[in-house]
Amino acid sequence: MKHIIFASCLLFAACNNAPTNEDAAPQVQTDIASVKLYALECGRIDMLDLSLFDKGGAYAGRTNKATSSCYLVRHPKGDLLWDTGLPDALNAIPGGVTNGPFHIEVPTTLESQLTALGVAATDIEYLSVSHSHFDHMGNAGAYASATFLVNEAEHTHLFRDEARNDAETFPAYSALEQAKTVKFTGEYDVFGDATVTIMDMPGHTPGHTVLKLELAKPARCCSAAIYII
Ligand SMILES: [Zn+2]
Repeated sequence: MKHIIFASCLLFAACNNAPTNEDAAPQVQTDIASVKLYALECGRIDMLDLSLFDKGGAYAGRTNKATSSCYLVRHPKGDLLWDTGLPDALNAIPGGVTNGPFHIEVPTTLESQLTALGVAATDIEYLSVSHSHFDHMGNAGAYASATFLVNEAEHTHLFRDEARNDAETFPAYSALEQAKTVKFTGEYDVFGDATVTIMDMPGHTPGHTVLKLELAKPARCCSAAIYII
């Protein structure tokens, strides 16, 4: 049975047949058992004022916690890093820092988790991100040797004047401007075999995307619908 995983701000698993990708090139058969997903913790966020996410006042005075997740997808044709979390540099600040309505900390760096898997930054063939917010872009510049796969609208959003003037976030990914880049619209079949597909899901940002995976086994965390926000 195939298992399809979607990963983004939201991650959920379901056991359905894959939808057809009408725009894809003729598909190459890949043993889906050879495609592996590693979920990495890339920081923690205490949201100190949830009213940031609400225009009607329903969240006034409420707080919540979030995990910033990154994912390494290992495929016979290469590695894909999906999202890069909060900056690894925060690991040097025990207890983290408070920045506006967020308290953020990085107990374990992305780099150290990849090292534990035997993967160096320069080993990674492909980098993509769900979207361009600070908690997904924190280490992106460190992976600029990879080919950057990015929705065209999100690429425009990343390098618009307002983003360039964000002195906290832009330096974390500015190196991507020189990276080998593949811009796409709609769906993008990363390895040409429909096992790893980036899908359009705009709204949170103009070019927000999610990642659809076909795996031989369900993600260990996901025996049923599960949301990691
Ligand atoms: Zn976001």
